[in-house]
Amino acid sequence: KNWVIAIDGYSSTGKSSISKVIAKRLGLIHMDTGALYRGITFYGLSHCQNADDSIDLQQLIDDLPNINLVFEKKNDELQLFLNGTNIDKEIRQPQVSANVSQVAKLPEVRAFLLDTQRNIAKTGGVIMDGRDIGTVVLPNADFKFFLTASTDERAKRRHLELLGFGENISIEEVKQNLIERDKIDSEREIAPLRQADDAILIDNSDLTKEQTIELMLSYIK
Ligand code: C5P
Repeated sequence: KNWVIAIDGYSSTGKSSISKVIAKRLGLIHMDTGALYRGITFYGLSHCQNADDSIDLQQLIDDLPNINLVFEKKNDELQLFLNGTNIDKEIRQPQVSANVSQVAKLPEVRAFLLDTQRNIAKTGGVIMDGRDIGTVVLPNADFKFFLTASTDERAKRRHLELLGFGENISIEEVKQNLIERDKIDSEREIAPLRQADDAILIDNSDLTKEQTIELMLSYIK
């Protein structure tokens, strides 16, 4: 079962946590591609900041050759390292969420991350989640899913998750960030957030995580 599975969808539809479980059950490697865009954004916030705290996007583009962003396998899971330092926690900060879609719009950044994503899938046995996996990164995936859910439900879920990380943020703020990111991600010119023609659409507004997983597994055969 050397499957290649692509999972795309709107922000906070559970793509990553669902992919993680499916990967375990099917013996696949899970790659969260959003983490890569977040990693570049975290670098920008740390090294290419304007006076008003926004990211100097041109400086970030010029700095791309200095960025070494790699996933390393630890206990069957991939951990993200930026120039040698683990950044799995840092990339979840609200400041990263607030800036990531501006960074993900840049063609230079998308091109920079393409090889990392495709190399992982070369040998098969992988489940990758993101926004353009079924359409651009892995158009020949064996199975493609596209996840969606109501904005309120997604905001509730992400808010709970952030509380778990110790972030003090209101549900309304979380909701605005989701709406804003989905809008920028869907409207960008390069590799916009879109359901691939051959992807299976799943609305999990009224499904638990476990029900969503069972439904998806019923297609993977
Ligand atoms: O999946 P996550 O919400 O962590 O992704 C963060 C951001 O990274 C998205 O809002 C989007 O701007 C960008 N992204 C992307 N293409 C992907 C994965 C993520 O543009 N394949």
